[in-house]
Amino acid sequence: MAEIRTLDLEFFGATEIIASFLVPVGNGFVLFESGPASSVGALERRVNEEGFDLDDLQAVFATHVHLDHAGGAGVLARRTGCTVFSHPLGAPHLANPGDKLLPSAERIYKDMMVPLWGGTEGVPEAQLRVVEDRESVTVDGLEVVAHFTPGHAVHHVAWQIGDAVATGDVGGVRFRGATHVLPPMPPPDIDVEDWRASLALLRRLEPSRLLLTHYGAFDDPARHLDELEDRLIRWTGIARRILADGGDREALGAALLELDEREMDASGVPPEAAARYRKLCPVKESSAGLYRYCSKQ
Ligand SMILES: [Zn+2]
Repeated sequence: MAEIRTLDLEFFGATEIIASFLVPVGNGFVLFESGPASSVGALERRVNEEGFDLDDLQAVFATHVHLDHAGGAGVLARRTGCTVFSHPLGAPHLANPGDKLLPSAERIYKDMMVPLWGGTEGVPEAQLRVVEDRESVTVDGLEVVAHFTPGHAVHHVAWQIGDAVATGDVGGVRFRGATHVLPPMPPPDIDVEDWRASLALLRRLEPSRLLLTHYGAFDDPARHLDELEDRLIRWTGIARRILADGGDREALGAALLELDEREMDASGVPPEAAARYRKLCPVKESSAGLYRYCSKQ
């Protein structure tokens, strides 16, 4: 069973909202998720606290290219010479973030782009390693299996490490002290059918731990994945009904927010966790991605 440590990247001053996972290997360590470029300083502090030196980073396994997950991969690759593992569809964005990834993020974040995400840099092509679905790779003695898991993003990979799986965003969002699981559904890639197939795949792996970037390790995978799928199905049903009634995205956002407030209360989500759900996985953003998906059908 691999030894896995959760690193709090203290994103934008907020604790326990974005994680990176450190796994020791023969001559150093590897990371599942780099976090954003803005968190590299916090990442280095955490790595040092765990008794490692950032220069001994052997590899970064990116679940997908969204800036909160892999925005810092280029900075880390240039500094340490590490390999960055990625889905083939994600690799061009990691190599050349200035082409599409950053311009589309700038349209959303505007003046907050650099404060939030830092100076995102490209991963040198020679250090990028594309994987195939179900490919097993070994880094310095550690075996990791890639599982393509679309639904949240077309270029999403879940990484299996022994009995644990780093689920990126396809395994949902959940914070400490809560059982509540939310599907983050930003535009443009959301595909509910693909997402459900990815959840079926995760169940078949029978993991004993899920490693959620947002946030941490959870040891009740079956219940967790069931709740996530149930919420995906119900939210999609609500979206279809609202669309059929001629409702707009705002109507969907209001309906989902009202429902989710009730369900968070009912499941006893602690107040600090409730604030983290709203900050990291705003229902307004998810309703935009879900609305887009349902209106294309
Ligand atoms: Zn994402």
